[in-house]
This record gives sequence, C-alpha cells and structure tokens, in this order.
Amino acid sequence: MPSTAVLARESAPSHKVLDGRALAQRIRAEVAADVAALTASGWPVRLVSISAGDTEAARLYVRNQSRAAASVGMDFEARDYPGDIGSEELTGIIQGLNTDPRVTGIIIQRPTPAHLPERRLQRSVHPLKDVEGMHPANIGNIVYNDLKMGPCTAVAAVEMLRETRMSLKGLEVTVIGHSAIVGKPIAFLLMAEGATVTVCHHMTRNLAMHSRSADAVFVAVGKPGLVIGDMLKPGAALIDIGINQVDGPDGPRVVGDADFDGCHEVAGWITPVPGGVGPVTVAMLLRNAVTAAKLQRDHYAATFGETAPG
Ligand code: NAD
Repeated sequence: MPSTAVLARESAPSHKVLDGRALAQRIRAEVAADVAALTASGWPVRLVSISAGDTEAARLYVRNQSRAAASVGMDFEARDYPGDIGSEELTGIIQGLNTDPRVTGIIIQRPTPAHLPERRLQRSVHPLKDVEGMHPANIGNIVYNDLKMGPCTAVAAVEMLRETRMSLKGLEVTVIGHSAIVGKPIAFLLMAEGATVTVCHHMTRNLAMHSRSADAVFVAVGKPGLVIGDMLKPGAALIDIGINQVDGPDGPRVVGDADFDGCHEVAGWITPVPGGVGPVTVAMLLRNAVTAAKLQRDHYAATFGETAPG
C-alpha cells in the first residue's frame, strides 16, 4: 500500500509547462485577421530586414521571421549589406525606408559591424516603423505606461506570465538580468500592472535570497544553469528567457538560463527552452508590425486627409 506522502504527491496537480508555441499560434491567428483587414483597406504590411556584415550570424532569425511573416500574409524583404558599408550610406538607406509609404516596418538584425553601433542604427528607424520596439522613443514610452510597440522579448515574457492567470497586482516578481531591451522593460511592464518588482544583475549580492521570495521569476542572463530549483519558492512561476547553446551527448543543443529539470520539480509554472518565450517573441514582432501599420495609416489620414497612399 503506498504511503500517504506518495498518494499526496500523485494527486497533486502536475507542474504546468507554459507552451509558447500554442500561445504564439493564437497570437498569429489574430494578427493574420488584422493583416487581411489592413490589406483590404490599402495598407498591406511590409517588413524590410537589414543585415550588415556577418549576415550568417542572423540568418536563422531572418529565416524564422520571414516564414512567420509569410504565415500571416505579410510581405518580408531581407536585405544584406557588406560589412564595410559606411554609416552615412546605411542610415541614408534607412531614411529612405522611413519615408517610403510601402514599407511599414524595419528590422535591424544583430550583430551589427563595430563601426555601425546597433543603437545608432536603431535610432535612425522612424519610431512608427520600429516593429522591434527598440527605438529610444518606444522604450521610453514604457516608463509612461504608454505601450504601443514594446521590445518583443520583454513583452513576450510578460505575456507568458499572464498565461498562468495569476493576478499581477501586488505580485512579488524578481527579474534577473537588467539589459535595456529585456530585463529593464520587463520590470517597467510589470510595475505598470501593479507588481512589486526586484531587479537583479551581475553585481547582486545574494541572488537566491531575491529569487526565493518571489511569486514569479524572470531570468534573462545568458548563463545555463544559473537558476536552480533551490532558488525558487515552491509553486512560483519561472519565465526563462535565456538562449544558450551547450554540448549534449547528441551534439549541440539549446537551453535556457535555468536548470529545467530541477526547477520543474519546484515551480508551479515553467517555460521550456526551446518552445517557450522564443516563439512568442516572433509573434510579438508580427503583432508590433500590425500596430505599426495601423499607426501609420492613422498618421497618414491625419496628415493628408486620405485613408491610403494611391
Ligand atoms: P545582456 O548580456 O545584455 O545582459 C545580461 C544581463 O545579465 C545583465 O543585466 C547582467 O548584469 C546580468 N548578469 C550577468 N551575470 C549575472 C549573474 N551571475 N547573476 C545575475 N545577473 C547576471 O543580455 P540580454 O540581451 O538581455 O539577453 C539575455 C539572455 O536572453 C541571453 O541568453 C539571450 O540570448 C537571451 N535572449 C532571448 C531572447 C528570446 O527571444 N527568447 C531575445 C533576446 C535575448
């Protein structure tokens, strides 16, 4: 006869692995309907991706984005430029895309060559065409709780937490990693929802103390195995944003920043890597692309008094 402890464990609800692919699919269906309506009103959604220099590094991302765009009826053009292209020339090309009404979104692929700092290129994209949500104006709007186009990964990570159906009001959340495009925007998005947020980084003295007291933990660092089960409060949600390639017995594989098996034992909800935040990030890019096209349509109507360019 099994012991009471075993019976209790067997009848306990199973840990919930948050399925990013399913959520991404739902978002894509909404986006596809929006794209069809925009196209019918004279505003087809068209994205232009810009890679410079080591275009091989971003090839997988570009291919994923291109397929995802096609799946919702968006046009996607991938442009590769040589690594020695001048800063003036490339920003001139971006300015041209900014003023071309047939282009509704611009994506700057990383890494960029050293003489073309990523932030400078990102700044040259018009905020209304910044589908990655990384222009300083769009990042800054988050501080004012004005979320039009947020940085895709941060918004995707928060969407994954929403999947738990936990109320965010007063929720204790620890965010590990404070980069400008992931950790910090996550903290602001959560504060806007009423969460109490602690932000940890490489100088944090006692990471486990902060993670253990949280109802939800976000980790975006880039270090496999950084978060272990012992660092979590039982039942907490763990949103793993890290993407790391490690050697496995069957060759290289992709893992997050958490020890999945150990954390799965303790957490109430956990995101897998791959199949968690990643697919939702691409879906958010598509959602931003729709938002961008709608904002440009409204701006065009307000400026020219016409609904669409001829
Ligand atoms: P980053 O290098 O800009 O920032 C890393 C952050 O981790 C910094 O805030 C740093 O202080 C912190 N950190 C470093 N060591 C730490 C430690 N020991 N303890 C606590 N904090 C520590 O990285 P990023 O661009 O924010 O990306 C983070 C991770 O997220 C990477 O693995 C990246 O590949 C991944 N990422 C995933 C997606 C996605 O779509 N899922 C998108 C972007 C980035």
